[in-house]
Amino acid sequence: MDSPDPDSAGLNLTLARLRAAQQRQVPGYSQRIDDLKRLRAAFKSRLDEFAAAMSADFGRRSRHESLLTDGMTVLNEIDHICGHLRRWMRSRRAAADWLFLPARTEIRYQPLGVIGVIAPWNYPVNLALNPLAVAIAAGNHVMLKPSEHTPRTSELLKQLLDGVFPGDRVATVLGGSALAAAFAALPFDHLFFTGSTAVGRKVMAAAAQNLTPVTLELGGKSPAIIAPGYPLATAVGRIAAGKFLNAGQTCIAPDYVLLPQAQIAPFVAEMQKYISQRYADLAANPDYSSIVNAAQYARLKSYLDQARAAGAKVIELATGDAGQRILAPTLVLDARDDLALMQDEIFGPILPLVAIESVDAAVDYVNARPRPLALYHFDQDRARTERVLERTTAGGVTINDTVLHFAQSELPFGGVGPSGMGHYHGREGFLAFSKQKPVMYQARFSGMALARPPYGKVADFLVKFLTR
Ligand code: NAD
Repeated sequence: MDSPDPDSAGLNLTLARLRAAQQRQVPGYSQRIDDLKRLRAAFKSRLDEFAAAMSADFGRRSRHESLLTDGMTVLNEIDHICGHLRRWMRSRRAAADWLFLPARTEIRYQPLGVIGVIAPWNYPVNLALNPLAVAIAAGNHVMLKPSEHTPRTSELLKQLLDGVFPGDRVATVLGGSALAAAFAALPFDHLFFTGSTAVGRKVMAAAAQNLTPVTLELGGKSPAIIAPGYPLATAVGRIAAGKFLNAGQTCIAPDYVLLPQAQIAPFVAEMQKYISQRYADLAANPDYSSIVNAAQYARLKSYLDQARAAGAKVIELATGDAGQRILAPTLVLDARDDLALMQDEIFGPILPLVAIESVDAAVDYVNARPRPLALYHFDQDRARTERVLERTTAGGVTINDTVLHFAQSELPFGGVGPSGMGHYHGREGFLAFSKQKPVMYQARFSGMALARPPYGKVADFLVKFLTR
């Protein structure tokens, strides 16, 4: 369970210890690979414990989904890093401007120092260990603050990391929002935050006091657009897979669907079929997860109560179980734009369907709202798909499916505007946690000597030539 919040002085001491060790000896390639391999092996041997801890924290969480989304993703990311790190670390020759030849220039990749990582509860392992692994790969030391809403998993993360790393290389601190606020105020060399947009604003304000650069991985309302003519059963299956994974508690889950009015009734029918085939007896179904806590459950219930009271049609596709905080997959039709579920990020298994007559109108709808973390477009027309890609701005896109762009190690992952800033995953993460240090090596002979005072005829000629 949560340990008591340490005071700011304690946090500062921990940071100072990490920083002193990092400065004393910057970890080289072999050390980094060794660290990552030990982390991988220790994590792999405890996968089942982690799945059980997450299930206990959520009330019930699908073991298969935990092993895939919090297990496989971390193992794959570490493997990808280990396979590429030597190349990423290599200094890159850059061409010197001709005027300065024969000088040489290069870019070196240097660790930033100590990285602060703040993680949320929804994928509590993945969103802690993936940034941590790539920060380690870039040669940094790391201080991690996991979520207080998954206390067993956070405790297990601490045990895992304390076992793998010396305390002056990786430190894990546990606690609630007061500790988190003190953590964000520490003078890290970089602060990596995953969580809500509202808390992201506070994190950035705190970091600004130290001019600590931030990566903010935030949330938002991610639309799914279904173009006329796209096979509906395929779209429904792929939207449902992304939406009901982790019972909708996924930052890049489709938040709502834009589709032609004539498709709404068939969409509902297809979704009813999908849910009855995939999620029999929801209350006893180990493949469908609980809502993480009573506050989140009440928030989602209040969206539905408000929608019903405003005359929207609420279609529960199965029978939930309030005792276990199982909220059934639910469609909402005719929801007014001012309802909370049309304004807030839903972050649960509720899916509003919005009638929209053309793909261009759908693009206008998306563009009239804050830039989303993800956008999904289902279409068989390539020219129209291209138009959607050109006209919309989102953190990431999957065409003809949902959420899978997240799993691509070579794609930068991150939001834009209110859905976040900065990227990670694979090399993008390595770059986010590295200083790209430009170095110029002057040659024994340099033409620069011609450009020194007192300026005479040669300098006149040079200036005239260079400003021609
Ligand atoms: P949250 O913002 O409530 O909490 C995230 C973390 O911030 C927790 O560890 C919490 O202790 C800490 N925190 C709380 N107050 C703080 C403060 N004042 N200063 C610094 N840190 C503070 O988010 P959550 O409820 O845990 O997660 C859900 C949100 O996260 C959703 O909005 C979701 O979209 C987003 N999310 C984004 C991504 C992504 O990759 N972009 C991934 C998962 C979740």
